[in-house]
Amino acid sequence: MDNKNTVTIKNYLKKYKVGIILYVVLQMLSAGMEVAITLLLAESIEKITLAQYKNGIMFLLIVLGCYVLRRLIYNLTDYVFSKYSNKITSDMNFDLAKQAFKLNSETYANHETGTFVQRIVYDPERLVFEFANMVNLITSIITSTTIMIYVSVLNIYIGLIIFAVLIVCFFIERKRVKTFKQNRQKTRQVNDRINTLTTEIVRSEKDIKSIGLEDKLSELSNSAYTKYRDVRYKTAIDNMLISTARNFIVEVAKIGLLILGVVLLDKALITFATFMIVYSNSDGLYNFIYCIGNLSTQAVEIKIAAERMFGLYDNKEFICEKFGDVNLEHVKGKIEFKNVCYAYKEYEMVKPESKGKITKKQAKKLKPVWTLTNKNTVFENLNFTIEPNTTVAFVGRSGSGKSTILNLISKMYEADGGEVLIDDVNINLLTKQTLRKSISLVNQFPYIFDATIKENLLLAKKDATDEEINTALKNAAFDEFVATLKNGINTKVGESGIKLSGGQKQRLAIARALLRNSSIIIFDESTSSLDNFAQESIKHSIDKLKGKSTIIIVAHRLSTIKNADKIYFLDNGKIEDSGTFDELFKRNKVFNQMFLVENLADETEVLNNTTQPLQY
Ligand code: ADP
Repeated sequence: MDNKNTVTIKNYLKKYKVGIILYVVLQMLSAGMEVAITLLLAESIEKITLAQYKNGIMFLLIVLGCYVLRRLIYNLTDYVFSKYSNKITSDMNFDLAKQAFKLNSETYANHETGTFVQRIVYDPERLVFEFANMVNLITSIITSTTIMIYVSVLNIYIGLIIFAVLIVCFFIERKRVKTFKQNRQKTRQVNDRINTLTTEIVRSEKDIKSIGLEDKLSELSNSAYTKYRDVRYKTAIDNMLISTARNFIVEVAKIGLLILGVVLLDKALITFATFMIVYSNSDGLYNFIYCIGNLSTQAVEIKIAAERMFGLYDNKEFICEKFGDVNLEHVKGKIEFKNVCYAYKEYEMVKPESKGKITKKQAKKLKPVWTLTNKNTVFENLNFTIEPNTTVAFVGRSGSGKSTILNLISKMYEADGGEVLIDDVNINLLTKQTLRKSISLVNQFPYIFDATIKENLLLAKKDATDEEINTALKNAAFDEFVATLKNGINTKVGESGIKLSGGQKQRLAIARALLRNSSIIIFDESTSSLDNFAQESIKHSIDKLKGKSTIIIVAHRLSTIKNADKIYFLDNGKIEDSGTFDELFKRNKVFNQMFLVENLADETEVLNNTTQPLQY
């Protein structure tokens, strides 16, 4: 299922039509059996009251046969449901997870984790479950309708009472569905929040403890759970009030029907058998209204789950990455920014401003839309060129835009204006394959997968030889550590590489990137967690890559970029200066100061870590 943004529930209905049709047919057969059983029972009562005992017993035996057949149909229905519901659910989970990869980084930055977890993991199951429920209800409605028509045909007054009750209940149900929809949406939103918060708490458990955030986080989760509790409480109360009204009307109608039956019996307008049929089927009226009411609730559930799931494909709230069709066999690694403009954007669900005068009711009906609510401009007309196989560094104060440049080069974010060119081709025209193959990015906080060291490396190049792996480990200064492990390269590193230190994670991520042999390798503060020895070692590896790939480095430590061919000094989204390390050191005061402060800090560190007094 790969058709970009057009996946809807119809795709799955089409793909699994055999199973779905089979399920619906079996359900209809069950409904048919139900009606047959009711009518045959009525017939047997009729015969027995007319003293035709033999015929009465014959009908009862036929009913027994129907019971057996009905049981078989039930079992077959259950089997078909289990088989196809699991297939459809996992298919949807798989497609949605795949779609999630297509979304751009801005979309991720603008949504909570829980939003995706709900949509990908839980909504498909809910959708299939509610769909099956809906088919169940429809069959129940068919059964009840047939029985009610049968009872109404037996006597018109009975029919009129049923009709009047149905009308009253219809309005109650309308109100119920409206309230249900509002409550359900609120519950889902709160649920998303809880999911996000729980994920955050689990992920940042150490940070929470280390800065004593337990109370604050408990407060936050308490408040989220309180909201959840309140929404659920309100839903329960609303449901109780509405179903009390509905049940009361149905109960009054049931007794009314029986009183009417007695009156009609007294006036000899119906037979005793008819009275018995009305009596034994008066629950059918209740069932009918219950099913009709639940049908609309079910439809709302399906609609909400479907809107949320298929919203991932709509390219409105969830924007997909876009790629071109220019395939470059070999990327040389030239990068150029031409008048690039970029702003981080924030979006929220906001009700649209009403055009002209509208009533309160109309205003209430306006649906919130995904709206741009804030912009943080980082670059306006940024220009620079990086020649192939050169090593270039970006330095500057925190927040000056270094990481944003890297995100634009790797097309995690798309420029709002101007052009980002790779080998003189606009990055937007390149195929996904060209881009991914030619650029490797080592993040500040790399994600390490819950697998062995070797498996983590093979993710970057599945057919890497042992020699290639060893070279990558060596060049990332990770080989010595791996050699100390009992299971060596086959050691499991835990979820997000929890069993590794920050520096070890960075070295593994660097080895992973080196293995890919890309034309452009980007290091985003990727040596920040390393000690001085490891940094020196990585610096040495990066130096070894010099001239073989285009290397782009964002580094806090100016000492790590001493050998860069060119350094861009950024301030507030602008290139303030550029040149070699020595040039900048000589002419740029701020750069000079940054380097001196860094060295001073290093010296202090050396002093603090020295057990023996230094000899001067
Ligand atoms: P640096 O890497 O130099 O520290 P960044 O490129 O990360 O700087 O950030 C540049 C500016 O963009 C900063 O003002 C930062 O606050 C802002 N910024 C970074 N990421 C986001 C984001 N996802 N949403 C909004 N603003 C952001």
